Amino acid sequence: MAKKGRVFSGARPTGRQHLGNYLGAIKNYVKLQDDYECVYCIVDVHALTTVETTRDLIQNTYEMAVDWLAAGIRPGDSIVFVQSHVPQVMELHTYLSMVTPLGKLTDLPTFKEKVRDQPDNVNYGLLGYPVLMTADIVLYKSDVVPVGVDQAPHLEFARETVRSFNYRYNTKALIEPQMKNTEIPKVLGIDGVQKMGKSLNNHIELAATPEETRQRVMQMVTDPQRMKRTDPGNPDVCNVFSMHKVFSSAEEVQMINSECRTAGIGCVDCKKRFAENLNKHLEPFRARREEIASKPDTVWDVLHEGGKRARALADETMKEVREAMQLPA
Ligand code: ADP
Repeated sequence: MAKKGRVFSGARPTGRQHLGNYLGAIKNYVKLQDDYECVYCIVDVHALTTVETTRDLIQNTYEMAVDWLAAGIRPGDSIVFVQSHVPQVMELHTYLSMVTPLGKLTDLPTFKEKVRDQPDNVNYGLLGYPVLMTADIVLYKSDVVPVGVDQAPHLEFARETVRSFNYRYNTKALIEPQMKNTEIPKVLGIDGVQKMGKSLNNHIELAATPEETRQRVMQMVTDPQRMKRTDPGNPDVCNVFSMHKVFSSAEEVQMINSECRTAGIGCVDCKKRFAENLNKHLEPFRARREEIASKPDTVWDVLHEGGKRARALADETMKEVREAMQLPA
């Protein structure tokens, strides 16, 4: 079947993925493969703007790739690779930086946030992050980039940068990417308050054992107003209930919805049911993961093969870019 175009998305190598990554990104990555030619990049260079040490970079890249593949990203169809394996992206970043007004970068909310987060490490790479992200997208002539609201300013920046470059060099070498507004759910952590994330240690790892998963689920905070088993609860404010809506059957969701409100079911039972359904859902993923992880070399082979395909695309784009800029051949 003819594809609708090329999708690009990148994620920093954060190691083993959690439920937030799964529902907020990976599930969508897998689905997009049906309609688009997909380019999925593990952006290790971007990671360098914030990490204190590169000690875990290789392992984190590997673990994330295993999770992606186990979740259903198909390396035969999609290009799955590591950002630094395509050095052309650094070259394009430099050229794009010349058509980027400094003020635009300093004005971006994400940059201001990072300055607040790491005042002792406001490095140049941090400022140039959106330029590198633009290079990532346009190097592979991507048509579509799935983004959530928080990434929208970056994509708008990428589009403007493409227009500036094409205008400045009177070329059509770079494609202005379309924003595909993706409804990215904000998955809350087991604390029920903050966004699920590794740094807060409020996450549930996809690759955890069923028993570890059960223990994490049993720690989940439910409706804070429900103090005793006999108190009626409010599923509308309960994170466990939102998870049931994703992982449990419609009948069970309906049953919990009414039984919680009348104290017919307690939080402990409700969580046990969720843990069971989640484990059932993750069973095929875990089996595939184990199989993939038993042959670590094949994972690196996938990434290297993806890198080769990505470099071939990059070479074509860079040839056009250099010609348009009238750089000496
Ligand atoms: P990055 O800096 O590359 O976004 P993250 O590990 O923070 O790295 O996130 C990777 C992907 O997973 C992103 O698309 C992000 O939106 C998604 N994600 C991470 N945590 C959550 C969460 N708690 N809820 C929804 N989506 C999430």
